[in-house]
Amino acid sequence: MARIKQLSAQEAQKIAAGQVVERPANAVKELLENAIDAGATHISLFIEDGGKQLIRVVDNGCGMDREDAQLCFAKHATSKIKSVDELPSLTTFGFRGEALASIAAVSTVTLLTKQPDAIEGLKAIAHEGIITVEPIGCPQGTDIAVRDLFYNVPARAKFLKKRETETRHIIQTVQAMAFAYPHIHLQLYVDGKQLLNCPAQDTMLQRCAQLWDASTAKHMMSIEATRSDKGISLCGAISNHQWFRYDRSGMFFLVNNRWVTNTGLSRALLKGYNNVIPQGRYPMATLSIMINPALIDVNTHPRKEEITFAHPRTIEQLIQDTVRKALEAHVSKQIKKDVSFYQPTHTPSQSVESLSFRPASLAPDMYDAALLEPTPMEPALYTESPFQPTTTPALLTSEAESLTIPIIETADESHKVIGQFAKTYILIEQQEGLFLVDQHAAHERVLYEQFGQRFEAIPTINLMFPQLVTCSEHDLAIIEPHLSLFAQHGISIETFSKDQLIIQSTPVHLKNAPLQEIIQTAIGWIKELQHIDQEQFHKTIHDKLRAQMACKAAVKAGDVLTQSQMQELIKDLHDTPNRFSCPHGRPTGWMLSLHDIEKTFRRKT
Ligand code: ADP
Ligand code: MG
Repeated sequence: MARIKQLSAQEAQKIAAGQVVERPANAVKELLENAIDAGATHISLFIEDGGKQLIRVVDNGCGMDREDAQLCFAKHATSKIKSVDELPSLTTFGFRGEALASIAAVSTVTLLTKQPDAIEGLKAIAHEGIITVEPIGCPQGTDIAVRDLFYNVPARAKFLKKRETETRHIIQTVQAMAFAYPHIHLQLYVDGKQLLNCPAQDTMLQRCAQLWDASTAKHMMSIEATRSDKGISLCGAISNHQWFRYDRSGMFFLVNNRWVTNTGLSRALLKGYNNVIPQGRYPMATLSIMINPALIDVNTHPRKEEITFAHPRTIEQLIQDTVRKALEAHVSKQIKKDVSFYQPTHTPSQSVESLSFRPASLAPDMYDAALLEPTPMEPALYTESPFQPTTTPALLTSEAESLTIPIIETADESHKVIGQFAKTYILIEQQEGLFLVDQHAAHERVLYEQFGQRFEAIPTINLMFPQLVTCSEHDLAIIEPHLSLFAQHGISIETFSKDQLIIQSTPVHLKNAPLQEIIQTAIGWIKELQHIDQEQFHKTIHDKLRAQMACKAAVKAGDVLTQSQMQELIKDLHDTPNRFSCPHGRPTGWMLSLHDIEKTFRRKT
């Protein structure tokens, strides 16, 4: 006997429904899209029990007549296209005519609808494949209520998550729609309470304030770019380097106003933030791409969540570059090259006690000859106490003198260094607030980028007394083949004896650094990494060396800086790429907005 049986139309539809509606948020998306396709300017969404009990969407769109109210629940019933040839020029969300059919197959749907010029409205109920339509008095537009989702598909219902999780997915969907259509007034009610009320707005930035909180909105900035030759334009809002999340839920991508998840787009956005926010953190961003519909395929995913581009690289590059530029411009505003000084009434006496820092931009020949004296050899591994400044007596006198030099006048009074806080942070007064720069993180980044330039560009000095580094014979054999790597970073090392290396010259900034420790650490990396492929090995060692050298040479937390040193550092930071963070991903600067300060002191609400 034949084992194959054709499923009944109703059972087949229940199975097919799973493709379109996997969870309540998918139904929400379909219903909101229908309302937008119907030209609504005001949409309210009511949710109960994470959408499992009720999803109701009320719109003021074009409504339906009797025939459509009956037909809209049928399979492949759409008013939006007549043939697949129309897909490339599609301007609506819907085109497959399967959303209402799918939703109705797995729930009970009540539809109230009225066209603007109709005398009366209609009420349609779809339940178990039977549709009834009767006249009723109702306002213009469509009010569609979906009850008991998946009541007849227990296998699917079982996989639904708890109310909070499903509600979260729904909120995410509503936010995406709100970003795509700032001109639509959107309201969301969850279990009887209003959660969102977003009247029409002109910009994405204003939408951010409605959908997220006011603090987030303050850290968002607008971006815009076009590639007219490729028919692409990009606009949106992105968070600055001071604001991030621990997950991707604040990232939205819209393509021709359609909310999509596309790994290429989010990768491009994250690349734009490379080195700007710490690893494992995500920006908040809503990016809207408008593109010639002929250059995308929206029909590649059952729920139309993904999209395929004809030229993905162009779009990704545009996103990455635009985001990068916006972040750079924002930081440039915060880190001004020319900062003026606040004139202290007393010169802080301790500032002459613990100076070890020379601004990076000073040329080596400006160094006091006395500085070239060797630091004593340390046989054991150097251990650094982070708050123990390395003192250089020779420098103290000259810096002490420099403190009495009159304050340098600079043009821009709106960016003033007002001092150093906790011997660690440089305080800059600005119109927008108080900007704090972490002196170690900032200097580390400046040096890291300098050390990344070609060796010839790094100022080096010959040590008056070359330094000996002692290590085991075994370690010496390990490091010996790689000494040229150090030379590329301005450290010239040779073998001196069977267990000693000799350092003849170093980059200027490293002259007081614990060279023994740098070499010992590098031996450790070489041991660890020597099994990976050559190219990767060299790249990793170079990176690590650069970071280690920058860290050791940079001014430390606890080092007291003079005003001119602070000014130099800020200037150098301004001119440095990737200046948002140190090589380890810590931020270099932080803005305490005047608004927040005033709020704290209740001068403002
Ligand atoms: P699609 O959107 O792909 O056309 P749907 O199943 O979502 O398919 O909807 C079927 C049809 O029902 C739509 O083409 C539209 O004509 C009508 N419709 C659905 N929702 C609304 C609404 N809110 N207002 C007016 N018409 C609607
Ligand atoms: Mg639809």
